[in-house]
Amino acid sequence: MLKKVDHIGIAVTSIEPVKQFYREVFGLEPVFEEEVSEQKVRVVGFQVGETRLEYLEPTAEDSPIARFLHKRGEGMHHIALSVTHIQHALEVLKSHGIQLIDEKPRIGAEGKKIAFVHPKSTHGVLIELSEE
Ligand code: ZN
Repeated sequence: MLKKVDHIGIAVTSIEPVKQFYREVFGLEPVFEEEVSEQKVRVVGFQVGETRLEYLEPTAEDSPIARFLHKRGEGMHHIALSVTHIQHALEVLKSHGIQLIDEKPRIGAEGKKIAFVHPKSTHGVLIELSEE
């Protein structure tokens, strides 16, 4: 059911210095950059092997990422795991009593189907499931 670590989400106040860092230090350009209006974030992704590092900048004060930055400052926000069938994965998790944030998949960056699992049920790490 689990395929790989798809990406790691990192909350930042601004993605511009991040882009500059990757360009100057590693000569690396983002593989994508987009605004996900539903989650009120701007996302920039860097491919590192099979995994992407995604930096999330809030676009509004009521963005979940803005609230995260307020409470914890910049840093790791979530780990995304690829699954083959997200709806099936959610049903399996639910049947094991795992607390879900999203009972149904929603659309995330790159138009992928995603769903979040509550960190209370995953030893303190926010887990995102992402359909391949
Ligand atoms: Zn993510």
